Parts: sequence; structure tokens; C-alpha cells
Amino acid sequence: LVSRKKKPENTIVDLKGEKVGDGKPHLVFGPCAVESYEQVATVAEAVKAKGLKLLRGGAYKPRTSPYDFQGLGLEGLKILKRVADEYDLAVISEIVSPNDIETAVNYIDVIQIGARNMQNFELLKAAGAVNKPVLLKRGIAATIEEFINAAEYIMSQGNGQIILCERGIRTYERATRNTLDISAVPILKQETHLPVLVDVTHSTGRRDLLLPAAKAALAIGADGVMAEVHPDPAVALSDSAQQMDLNQFDQFMAELQSSALLK
Ligand code: PEP
Ligand code: MN
Repeated sequence: LVSRKKKPENTIVDLKGEKVGDGKPHLVFGPCAVESYEQVATVAEAVKAKGLKLLRGGAYKPRTSPYDFQGLGLEGLKILKRVADEYDLAVISEIVSPNDIETAVNYIDVIQIGARNMQNFELLKAAGAVNKPVLLKRGIAATIEEFINAAEYIMSQGNGQIILCERGIRTYERATRNTLDISAVPILKQETHLPVLVDVTHSTGRRDLLLPAAKAALAIGADGVMAEVHPDPAVALSDSAQQMDLNQFDQFMAELQSSALLK
């Protein structure tokens, strides 16, 4: 169902008027994790000030260590909904359990399925059974074929509103947190009719690489870029080393705008 052979024209996923897949670049910013109303609202204001529409933030955080911050859960979703309503933004948030999908759809605009859950087939099926856009991230060690099959799981249940997200894969290289598989973008665009985003934060894990990675993503044909922004990354409860602060966000946007990639 996701194959371009079956459907030659691009799928466009409409997020409150932001038509991802329409050929223009779409940018998603927001903190790694929802920590408080004030924290999310501060980023939302900065996003809104740039004329952007898409906000991200995790309420359920799939952390490598059980002792790390696990997210605010439902409380986090409520914060996202409040901010989305106040700033008229569409919010994207990760859901990690099939049991939470039914509730989550009342609070968020896009269900994110994270890298660690790309082959959680019950979660994929549950996300496929609701009428809500899904942002599906590539698994940490998933091949492109496995990634496409995960999207097929969602669509096989009836939900065709899927955005794919390349977020880097694990390789032997340690200079970056993951290895951004930039060629996955045109391959996914050729093989499927779905929009493709690139998450430059989790793929590189390095603040100094966010801008060049974003430029590469847009230049190679990605439908947009996702990056993490936090009012004060030094005290962030997760991904402290790679989130941009608001000044860095300003600079990131200014440089991307001057690059002519944001037409
Ligand atoms: C995230 O986007 O918040 C996240 C945890 O990313 P990933 O699933 O790609 O590691
Ligand atoms: Mn993160």
C-alpha cells in the first residue's frame, strides 16, 4: 500500500493546514521532553514567531536507562494540548504503548512512533486503526526495507496518513550519535509515496552538525526537518547535549533561510 508503484502521486499529510508532502519544506521544532507548561510554551512562542506551525515534545520518553526521566505521561499530553490550542500549533508526540493511543488522539495532532518501537507491531497496528497522522521513525538498526514494512503495518489497518522520519542508524562510527543515512531520503521517496522528514538532532547528536545536516536533508529532497529546541538545554531532563537554545534556534533559522533551501 505504501509503494509508489501502487500510487504514483505523493501523499500529502495535512497537519492543521501544514501540508507535509506538498513539495515545500516543513520544519518541526520542540523540546526532547515535555517538562513543564512554561518550558513548552516558551518554545511554542519562538516557533510561532518564525511563522512555523509544527511543535514536537515527548510525554512518554523511551529511555535507555530506567533511572532516567521517563516523561510526564498524560500530564505531558495535557500540556501539549493546552499549548497547541493557545498558539494554534499542531503537536507531535511519541506514544509507546498501544493502550495509550485511544486517549492520546484527544490531545495530540500526530502520533510519533519512535525508533525503539518501529517494529512494535501491536503499536503499529493500533496507530493504523485510528484516524490520526502518524510520524514513523526509522528503527535504530532497521534496513530501509524493514522501515517500509513498518509503514505498511500502519497502512494495512486503514490509516494512510503516515510521515516517515530518517533519524540515523547505528553503525561503527562514534563521531556522531547515529549515522545519518542521507541516501535513505531519495530511496524512500522513490519506493514510497509518503513524505519523508529528517531528524537532525537524534541522527547527529551534535549541535554543531544540525545546520549542515538540515541543509543536506532539504537539498536531497526531504519534505522537512525535525530538530530539538529547549529554553535552557543545560538543565534539560533529556538530550541536554544536542538541543538548541533559543538563540541557536534563531541562528539556525536565519542560516537556513539565507541558504535558499526554504522556498
Ligand atoms: C524523539 O524524537 O523524541 C526520540 C526519542 O527519537 P528516536 O525515537 O528517533 O530515538
Ligand atoms: Mn531527544
